[in-house]
Amino acid sequence: MKKNRLGIIGGGQLGMFTCIAAKKKGIKSIILSETEEFSAKNFCDRFFISDFKNFNNIDKFIDSADYFTIETENVPISIIHYIEKKKKVFPCSKVIEIAQNRLKEKKFLNSISGINTTEYLQPKNFEDFKYASKNFNYNCILKSKELGYDGKGQYKISKNNLDIFKEFNFDKFILEKIVDFKKEISIILIKSNANAINYPIVENIHKESILRESFYPAKINKKIKSEAISKSFEIANQISLNGVLAIEMFILKNGQILINELAPRPHNSGHWSMDACNESQYDNLINSIFFNNLTPPKVIAKCRMINLIGNDYKKIESLKKKYRCYDYYKKEIRDSRKMGHYIILDQLNS
Ligand code: ADP
Ligand code: MG
Repeated sequence: MKKNRLGIIGGGQLGMFTCIAAKKKGIKSIILSETEEFSAKNFCDRFFISDFKNFNNIDKFIDSADYFTIETENVPISIIHYIEKKKKVFPCSKVIEIAQNRLKEKKFLNSISGINTTEYLQPKNFEDFKYASKNFNYNCILKSKELGYDGKGQYKISKNNLDIFKEFNFDKFILEKIVDFKKEISIILIKSNANAINYPIVENIHKESILRESFYPAKINKKIKSEAISKSFEIANQISLNGVLAIEMFILKNGQILINELAPRPHNSGHWSMDACNESQYDNLINSIFFNNLTPPKVIAKCRMINLIGNDYKKIESLKKKYRCYDYYKKEIRDSRKMGHYIILDQLNS
C-alpha cells in the first residue's frame, strides 16, 4: 500500500504549515497535540489530543500514520524511541535527543573539529554557581537544559541577583557566557537519502530572547557565508541527519562563528521560504520523507519576515491591507506568544 500518511507530534504553527505543505503533495497529516486548541487543528486530516506520555494513545497515533516527524523538540525522548521501534521518525531519535538538551548539544558540537559554541559551565550547587559566575565576570545566563524556547527557562545573571538562586536545582541548568555578537544568523538544512540541500542564510533579530525578524539576504561577507554553510553541512553529517535541521549561529566582531543551537524541525526563521522560494522548508520536509528527493531552493525575492508577538497581533487586520499575513489561530493573546507573522517582499535586484 502506498505510504501517504504523516504523523506530526505537536500542533503549533510549524505543524500547521507542515500540514498545508503535506496536503498540496497528496499527503495526509495526523497531529498529536497535548492541548485541546492548536494552530494545526483545521489543517490536519485527523488529530489525537493526548498527553505525550499516554502510551495507549501513542499506540493509536502510531497506527494512524506511516511516517512521523516533530514540530517541537520538547517531546519525551522515550516516545520517539517507542515510535521508532515500529516506524520511521524524521529526524531520527539520535538527532532529537541531542538537539533537545543544551548540554548534550554543546558537547556534541564542540566534539566536532572546527565547530565551537559559547563557553559554558555546569555548576552543581550554589557555591559552585557563585564561583562559575565570577569566572564569567557575572556576564552569563543560566539556561535550562531542556524544554526551553523563546528565552523561556533562562535567567540573566548579575553580581546583584546571585542570592535568588540559593535554592535552585542546578542539575537542570547550564551556565553560559554571554557573547557580544555582531549578528545572529541561521541556516536550514534538509537531507534525504538522495540529496542534501540548504536554504540560504538569513539574518535574525531577537528582542528579549524572542525572534522578531528574519531577513534575506543576510548582510554578511562571502567568507562568513561559505564558512557558515560548510560548518552546517559538517554538523549535519556528524549527526547523520535525515529530515530538517535548523542551525542558529552567532557571528562575533572578529568574524568567528559560534553555533548557538540546533532545532531538529522547521524553524521560525525559515517561514520566509513559503513566500520567497520555489519550495519552502515545509515542502522539502515532505519531499524528504515521502519522495526521497529534494528541490534545491531557488530564491525569487528579497524578504523580511516579521513576527507578530503578543499584542502585535491586534495590528493584523490593518497589516493585511499591505502585506501577506499569516495567522496562527491561537485562542488567546499572551505576552511573548507568537501569534502570526507577515512578509515584506522586494525585488531581488533592488
Ligand atoms: P531559545 O531556545 O529560547 O531560542 P537561545 O539560546 O537561542 O534559546 O536564546 C535566545 C536568544 O537569546 C538568542 O537568539 C540570543 O539573541 C540571546 N542569547 C542566548 N544566549 C546568548 C549568549 N550566550 N550570548 C548572547 N546572547 C545570547
Ligand atoms: Mg534559539
